[in-house]
Amino acid sequence: MKKTDIDYFQNMLQNELDALLAKAGIAVVELIGSVYTNEADPLDRATEEESRNNQLRIRGRESRLIAKIKKSLQAIEEGTYGICEECEEPIAIDRLKARPVTSYCIDCKTKQEAFERVTGN
Ligand SMILES: [Zn+2]
Repeated sequence: MKKTDIDYFQNMLQNELDALLAKAGIAVVELIGSVYTNEADPLDRATEEESRNNQLRIRGRESRLIAKIKKSLQAIEEGTYGICEECEEPIAIDRLKARPVTSYCIDCKTKQEAFERVTGN
């Protein structure tokens, strides 16, 4: 991969990571806030509990994405970014632009997804 492409993805991933971490910080503050504003009304409490659970679910998805971005940034440092983990062929630039955290080329990903559909995993 060209140096300019590497720089492009590094910037893109870093910006996304910063944005996610900023958002995650806000979510944590809201989470802590909602713990201390518990109302006596059981219905309110149930609603609050539900919104807290939703936030935790979102945080789970975000933290997985954060982990993927960190892994991609590490791969950039190590010079292995954009190489498919499965077949070790370079991943198409267009695919990386659409999904910069991907670790697989389109062929391997397609095979993987077909496999996941069959096995239900
Ligand atoms: Zn591959």
